[in-house]
Amino acid sequence: MLAKDVELRGVSKRFGTVEAVRPLDLRVEAGEFLTLLGPSGCGKTTLLRLVAGLESVTSGTILVGGKDVTEQPPHRRDTGIMFQDYALFPHKNIADNIAYGLKMRGIPKSEREAATRDWLQRIGLDGMGGRFPDQLSGGQRQRVALARSLIVSPGALLLDEPLGALDANLRRQLQGELRHSHREVGLTFLYVTHDQEEAIALSDRIAVMNHGAIEQLGTPREIYDRPETGFVARFVGRCNILRGVVRERRGEDVLCDAGSLGALLAAAPREVAEGEGVSFALRHEAVHIAPFGGVPEVNGAALSVRDVHFLGSGHRIEAVSSDGTALALELGRRDIPGPLPAVGDGIVLRWEAEDLTMLRGE
Ligand code: ATP
Repeated sequence: MLAKDVELRGVSKRFGTVEAVRPLDLRVEAGEFLTLLGPSGCGKTTLLRLVAGLESVTSGTILVGGKDVTEQPPHRRDTGIMFQDYALFPHKNIADNIAYGLKMRGIPKSEREAATRDWLQRIGLDGMGGRFPDQLSGGQRQRVALARSLIVSPGALLLDEPLGALDANLRRQLQGELRHSHREVGLTFLYVTHDQEEAIALSDRIAVMNHGAIEQLGTPREIYDRPETGFVARFVGRCNILRGVVRERRGEDVLCDAGSLGALLAAAPREVAEGEGVSFALRHEAVHIAPFGGVPEVNGAALSVRDVHFLGSGHRIEAVSSDGTALALELGRRDIPGPLPAVGDGIVLRWEAEDLTMLRGE
C-alpha cells in the first residue's frame, strides 16, 4: 500500500454564521496516525469531512499526496472513510461486504476472493465470510468495516469515532487492533475522537481542537506533559491550574508567589516580567504527600483534606489551603507514606519544578 500525506493550507469552513473550522494549516505525514481530539462541536468531524470531500471548503487548499484535491469529488481523492455507524450492507454477506470496494473498481473475481480471504484472516473472522452482518457482534462488525475500508488501499484513511458505539472493554481491545493494523499496513490515518485516553493510546501525534482551531499539535507525550494552554491541560488528563505572580527570574527559572500555596519555582519557556500574573498546569499524579517535616520553601504547601475518593487503582485526594484554594492529587495504592489521610486532616503537599508547566493565555 502506498501511504500518502495529507496537507491542509488555510482551510476553513463556515455554515451560515457558524465558523465550524477557522483557517488552519495541518500536515499529516505519510504513514502517520494523527488524531483530531476535542469536545463536541469543536469542528473535528467537519475537518474530516472536508478532507474526505463530503463538505466543500469555505477557503483554503487540501492536498493528498501532494495533489490538490480541493475541487475533487470524494471518490477521486484517494481517501477512505470509516464512521462510528458505518453500516455494513445487511443483505450482503461478510465476504461481499469486504470485497465491495474492489468489485466497484472492477478487480477480477479471483483476486477479490484472495484479498478477502486474507482480510478475513487478519481480522480473526476466518471461515465466517458467508455470515451476514446481523450474525456478528458489534466488535466483529467494526472489524469488517475496517477491512472493507483498508482493502482498497486508500492513500489515507479517515476515521470518525469508529469505536464510539462500543463498550469500554471492547473499545480497548479494538484500539489495540487498530493500532496494530495501522502499523501493519503502514497507511496514513486521520482519526477523530473526543476520548483523550484513546487519542493518547493510538496516535503518533494529536491535534487538540477548540472552537474550530487547533490549540496544540504534538506527540501524546508532549500534549500530556507539556500542555500549552489551560484548555489542553484540562481536556487531556486531570490537572490543577496554579496561579501566581512573578517575583523574580532565576536563570532559566522563575520564582512566583502563589498566595496560600507558597512560592512556585518553575521553568519559564517565555519572557515574563516581574509582577506579571502567570499560571501553571500541575498534573494530579505529580503532587505528593511530603512524608514528614515542615513545608518546603518552594513547590510545597500545608493544606487540609476536603475529600478522599477511592479510584480502584489508588486514591484521589482533594485538599484546600488556608484561603480555600483547592489542590487535587492522585496516588497509587502504594504511594502513601503513612495511613490514608482522612477528611479534615492537615497534610503537606509537594511537587517538582519540572512538573509545573507554564500556560499561555490563562
Ligand atoms: P461532535 O463530536 O459532537 O461530532 P465535532 O467536534 O465533530 O462534534 P462538528 O460536527 O464538526 O463538531 O461541528 C462543528 C460546528 O459546526 C458545530 O457548531 C456544529 O453545530 C456546526 N455544524 C456542523 N455541521 C453543520 C451543518 N451541516 N450545518 C450547520 N452547522 C453545522
